[in-house]
Amino acid sequence: MRELSVFYCNKCGFYGYYQLPKNAVCHKCSCAMTRLDMTHQKFVGLSYEERDRLLAAKMIESAPSLACRITAPEKLYRQRKLVGALTQRILELEKEVDQLNETIEWMHTTIWNAVRQRQELKEEIQFLKESSGPDQPAATDI
Ligand SMILES: [Zn+2]
Repeated sequence: MRELSVFYCNKCGFYGYYQLPKNAVCHKCSCAMTRLDMTHQKFVGLSYEERDRLLAAKMIESAPSLACRITAPEKLYRQRKLVGALTQRILELEKEVDQLNETIEWMHTTIWNAVRQRQELKEEIQFLKESSGPDQPAATDI
């Protein structure tokens, strides 16, 4: 089995691990990602902040005109961090939406079961009323 390599997107900083370069396509920008000259093992050993800094530096390097214009690369590092944080937040929210959908699905099923049960009880009462004859006091409607 081939070893995993780290690939990153020059445009947005998204990164992932792939065996084959042809699979390394940014799912946000749909562009080919660049292979990082660091082993997968070493990269995953880095903290998230170290990864951000490394990739931000790579992104600036790959855009020379940008590097010339930006006099404070620290600004970009922070942006990359912000992008990371927002991406995480979106993932969290998506997960929350999934959970809410599951809850709604469950409630829907529960409500329908209750409605069906109520209908069955109504029919049973109706049946009892009819079979008990006219002399019996009528059961209360539900
Ligand atoms: Zn991208």
